[in-house]
Amino acid sequence: MSVLLTILAALIATGACAYHRTSLRTWAIATLAATFVVGLFSGAIGTMVILLIIELAIAVPLLMVSFRRRNITAPILKTFAKVTPKLSDTEQTALEAGTIGFEGELFSGKPDWSVLMRQPKPVLSVEEQAFMDGPVEELCGMLDDWQITHELADLPPNVWDFIKKNKFFGMIIPKSYGGLQFSALAHSAVLQKLSTISSTVASTVAVPNSLGPAELLLHYGSDEQKNHYLPRLAVGEDIPCFALTGPYAGSDATSLPDYGIVCKQTVDGVETLGLKLTFNKHYITLAPIATVVGLAFRMYDPEHLLGEKEDLGITLALLPRATPGLQIGRRHFPLNVPFQNGPVQGKDVFVPMSTLIGGPHMAGHGWRMLVECLSVGRAISLPSSATGAVRGAVAATGAYARIRKQFGLSIARFEGVEEALARIGGLTYATAALSKSTAAAVDRGEKPAVTSAIAKYHATEWGREVAANTMDVLGGKGVQMGPKNYAGRSFQAVPIAITVEGANIMTRSLMIFGQGAIRCHPYVLKEMQALAIADRSEQLKTFDRLLFSHLGFGVSNAVRSLVLGLTGSRLGESAGDAYTRRYYRKLDRYSAALALCADVFMGVLGGKLKFKEKLSARLGDVLSNIYIASAMLKHYEDSGRPESDRPLLAWAFHECMWRTQTALDGAIRNFPVRPVAWLLRALVFPFGRREVPPSDRLGRRVAALITGPSEARDHLLEYVYLTPTPNNVVGRLNALLPEVILAEPVDRKFAKAQKSGQFKSLEYVDQLAEAEKAGVLTATESALLKHVRESLYEFISVDDFHTDELRAFKTRADRQAEAQADAWIRKPEVRTPESAEG
Ligand SMILES: Cc1cc2nc3c(=O)[nH]c(=O)nc-3n(C[C@H](O)[C@H](O)[C@H](O)COP(=O)(O)OP(=O)(O)OC[C@H]3O[C@@H](n4cnc5c(N)ncnc54)[C@H](O)[C@@H]3O)c2cc1C
Repeated sequence: MSVLLTILAALIATGACAYHRTSLRTWAIATLAATFVVGLFSGAIGTMVILLIIELAIAVPLLMVSFRRRNITAPILKTFAKVTPKLSDTEQTALEAGTIGFEGELFSGKPDWSVLMRQPKPVLSVEEQAFMDGPVEELCGMLDDWQITHELADLPPNVWDFIKKNKFFGMIIPKSYGGLQFSALAHSAVLQKLSTISSTVASTVAVPNSLGPAELLLHYGSDEQKNHYLPRLAVGEDIPCFALTGPYAGSDATSLPDYGIVCKQTVDGVETLGLKLTFNKHYITLAPIATVVGLAFRMYDPEHLLGEKEDLGITLALLPRATPGLQIGRRHFPLNVPFQNGPVQGKDVFVPMSTLIGGPHMAGHGWRMLVECLSVGRAISLPSSATGAVRGAVAATGAYARIRKQFGLSIARFEGVEEALARIGGLTYATAALSKSTAAAVDRGEKPAVTSAIAKYHATEWGREVAANTMDVLGGKGVQMGPKNYAGRSFQAVPIAITVEGANIMTRSLMIFGQGAIRCHPYVLKEMQALAIADRSEQLKTFDRLLFSHLGFGVSNAVRSLVLGLTGSRLGESAGDAYTRRYYRKLDRYSAALALCADVFMGVLGGKLKFKEKLSARLGDVLSNIYIASAMLKHYEDSGRPESDRPLLAWAFHECMWRTQTALDGAIRNFPVRPVAWLLRALVFPFGRREVPPSDRLGRRVAALITGPSEARDHLLEYVYLTPTPNNVVGRLNALLPEVILAEPVDRKFAKAQKSGQFKSLEYVDQLAEAEKAGVLTATESALLKHVRESLYEFISVDDFHTDELRAFKTRADRQAEAQADAWIRKPEVRTPESAEG
């Protein structure tokens, strides 16, 4: 017993030091003291002596710094230099771009929650709120999505004019250049609201405010370029597009074959230094109507007109539409969501050097420019559009499930439908919190490289889940297209959001963990950077400090993961209030597990982990889910801990923890070095997998919240365009909901009488009259049921068409008339379908 006690004392002292991350010296003193005291008093002298010898054998070499550096660190440094994969310039640029925010804490294994709670609550300014209530509301009122997507395949002229006049294209442009200079939060709110009524308009507005000419000019443009373009872009006098992707360069954008050769050409009688550009780009949003084209290409100087270098690298230029040889104007057709999108081509197109963004000295810096600016747009555009779509789904599907009756009941009452509704409500809560969190990060001045990828991937994936669940709940109503269908186009549009700004499979597999592990990890990037230190002794000193901090970090995470797993994360103090404390504790546990697994995976697999995408994607899922759960807790705090939102928070939180566990389990289960996997399993899941998905009871509460008026539902409907205008089916359906609910008890009374067979008539209206006569219903009740029945018809019926209305092309004369109507946005040099054919 005394032997056991002594060993236990040594282990507890070591464990406590590791758990609390003390210094090596404190660990040595605490462990030696615990062994000595317990050994002495319990009488296990022999064991005590053996343990003290072992402890001293470990501690002394580690504490003798110069000995340690020479004999331990130096050989490890040599091996590390050999096994560390050489990063390509592209990877190096991606890793160095952007900043790290709270996600860094999650990777630390011991998050400091006060960092998150200290972040200011994101709010719209008075001016931004006025824009939401004024021009945004007005624009929403002008949009007829069926007309846009089916009849015109474009926005009508008055909508284009309104968008330009009210500076929707200038949200990120400073006021000094005539723009709106909005916060990222306002930018996000505008896109959310627009996407609740038309994804075509939301995409159209998103693009000029995302990565493109304006953003690039703001960061790198010369004064002359800024002064010329920014005021014109702000008011839509210039319409921008940015062309990076081409048939041979999609996800791997750096492999672009488009090139520019430095040369001289006589322009207007003057010999001019410039470039001959050859390019073939496709999928370019706004290209068909763009007046200025941002172009990425590789620049070569074979005649050494600029200097020694021949291959200067990726470079960015701005080409005015009138540039001779620029072919532009035809359109692609992205899944019936007809925002302007098309190819841009050119062969030997001469442009002067002044067209390079930032001027000739920025030649070859194109990739860095793009990557540095990418995270801001990616944090806003797609996450916001997806959030608007899921919020809209809550408004519409929540109401529809309540009003639509089958088997004598609202379909929302059936458990199967309830499950789908719970997913819609819970995932919307999570997506909205995620979107707000990344917008807030941008407003704090961050360039969130990792969390923008998390937001892009998860908001759009969850948007896809919500869209699919919405279609399931709507049944045939969602399938039959027409002005009355408010869900079909959003469902169709989902793969667009999945694909653009980094296709999702690649974002999940390569970017989230790949960037996250190296950028957020407290030591890995610094260790890699230490390899570049030229002074040998300085290098050894730096690497030694990092290496031993890293080892301590790894041991601490192993202990924390095990202890938090064994105690069900109940140990010690934690953030939050009585309701949320358990949530923070769970996140502490999974943060330690993530940090541990990340270190072990990187340590054992080294550079090979880059190619084990299925493993790194799962670790990315862990990081993403605990980041999203943290964003939800912050959102809950910022909203004043509303009791009404708790079922939503609870559902979404358990779902995130369930997904975290599934991902961790999958990563460990598939880890190729089995003994390491067994050890990890014991440390991460000492009692097995204990997380469960949200319960049926919780799902029922969430479904109830979104199918009837409630404070929580109102919170989810923030930024949804709900004004019941004739163009807004969702707004009108939502407005009908209180009346439907009022009529429910009356309807039950009436249904009972119907079932008893007491009515002679087969017609609903006649049966109401009979019920009134028989005293089953009062006159007011009968009028209410009649009114609700009539009002509902619009929402449960669907559209029908004559075949001519569905044909894409009618007669040749019709097509010519359409081309003429279209001409107002096209310039004379544009290739129209007719000219292309002719
Ligand atoms: C509607 C629309 C608008 C667009 N607007 C613009 C624009 O304005 N400007 C512009 O320059 N581009 C634009 N794009 C292009 C867009 O960015 C690309 O479509 C995207 O980068 C993916 O390239 P790809 O379509 O060629 O797919 P591919 O690169 O061929 O990818 C196909 C699949 O392979 C996966 N994949 C590829 N590499 C990896 C990997 N290493 N690991 C795991 N999976 C991988 C991808 O995730 C994807 O699922 C637009 C695209 C669309 C559809």
